[in-house]
Amino acid sequence: MTQQWVTVLGSTGSIGQSTLDVISRHPDRYSVYALTANRQVDTLFAQCLEYSPKFAVMVDEESAAVLSQRLSDKGSDIQVLSGPQALVKVSEAGEVNQVMAAIVGAAGLLPTLAAAKAGKRVLLANKEALVMSGKLFMDAVKENGAELLPIDSEHNAIFQSLPSNYEQKGFAPSGVRKILLTASGGPFRGQSSDQLQSITPAQAVKHPNWSMGQKISVDSATLMNKGLELIEACWLFDVTPDQVEVVVHPESVVHSMVQYNDGSVISQMGNPDMRTPIAYGMAWPDRIESGVDSLDFFALKQLNFEAPDHEVFPALRLAAEAFELGGTAPAVLNAANEIAVEAFLQEQIGFDAIPSLIQQTLKAHKVQPADTLETVLQADHWARQFCKDLMN
Ligand code: NAD
Ligand code: MG
Repeated sequence: MTQQWVTVLGSTGSIGQSTLDVISRHPDRYSVYALTANRQVDTLFAQCLEYSPKFAVMVDEESAAVLSQRLSDKGSDIQVLSGPQALVKVSEAGEVNQVMAAIVGAAGLLPTLAAAKAGKRVLLANKEALVMSGKLFMDAVKENGAELLPIDSEHNAIFQSLPSNYEQKGFAPSGVRKILLTASGGPFRGQSSDQLQSITPAQAVKHPNWSMGQKISVDSATLMNKGLELIEACWLFDVTPDQVEVVVHPESVVHSMVQYNDGSVISQMGNPDMRTPIAYGMAWPDRIESGVDSLDFFALKQLNFEAPDHEVFPALRLAAEAFELGGTAPAVLNAANEIAVEAFLQEQIGFDAIPSLIQQTLKAHKVQPADTLETVLQADHWARQFCKDLMN
């Protein structure tokens, strides 16, 4: 196979670092075209020295100036760019084969969409981008011959468990009865609404099974991560929320499942380590070494499953409602969530205020068809402002 040039959007984050770990195991297959970060100069500098990309992008201008100086002191010829437009440039560049979309939140939308429009293989970790712009994004993939490989572990598992001609055949003709989306239940599984009131940010970001960035860790604690993933699954696999069932599985070993009409259930299992779905997406349809150990079933002994608690964790219901409202509603859900999570991390609001702020923002929104990027971005801006105003 020919050498693949990879742009890693959000290379300093949890997914970005796992991606580089996989790349470093396969210098014969992958070369780094560009690495990008918001403002983590030290980490991006170290990554530049190790992976020698052609471009390094820091969205923050001052950080870019510092990185540029430090690289030129080392005699490096890596080009440093800055600003959000530079993210788009390194995503759509002609030489790039694959783009790892691992920026967190709405900030990843434009470069991820640019990769789809440029017909790249898009390795989608940045679920918020798809939630915001679902139809636009899926249309861009189809119209431009892009390859969309889900990196989110659940969606990667579903992708692996569906037949390879699923996209042509669709849900019912493939004999699919239900998609079972697994959820760890987060650090507060089994707690009551009263107990959730006194949760601190430090408790919320401590996930029992996965090591992840702060925002997705809080999303996992509220179950909004599963809500966003429900919407993500609807777009990726062309289904409605009632065709997807959330199954709480505290061990995070079964990464999701597909139930067929003959009674079969196909699942993908593995240790909870994102290098598995990353390696799968990068090498598909091949399989390559990812650095992840095989499961030890004798050490595991048992796997547990239970139903989600919709009373204590209303986020799942909110997400399903937003998807059913359609248009700009999912973008509004996502934006309000980003604002509320940030405020919670800054200790400005309590943990239980997160879903209620989202609900109020959704309720006040006048849903528009989400058929242009401008409409989506306007809804995103409106929701951010509305949610901030609710907190003041
Ligand atoms: P993280 O916080 O560890 O890293 C985020 C990255 O995005 C960093 O490189 C940061 O510099 C960059 N970034 C942040 N704000 C930016 C901005 N305004 N402009 C440009 N770049 C910006 O996050 P993460 O845990 O790696 O998650 C990344 C994405 O992958 C999220 O969408 C998350 O939902 C998804 N995801 C993560 C995991 C996981 O295990 N961490 C699993 C599934 C999906
Ligand atoms: Mg996931």
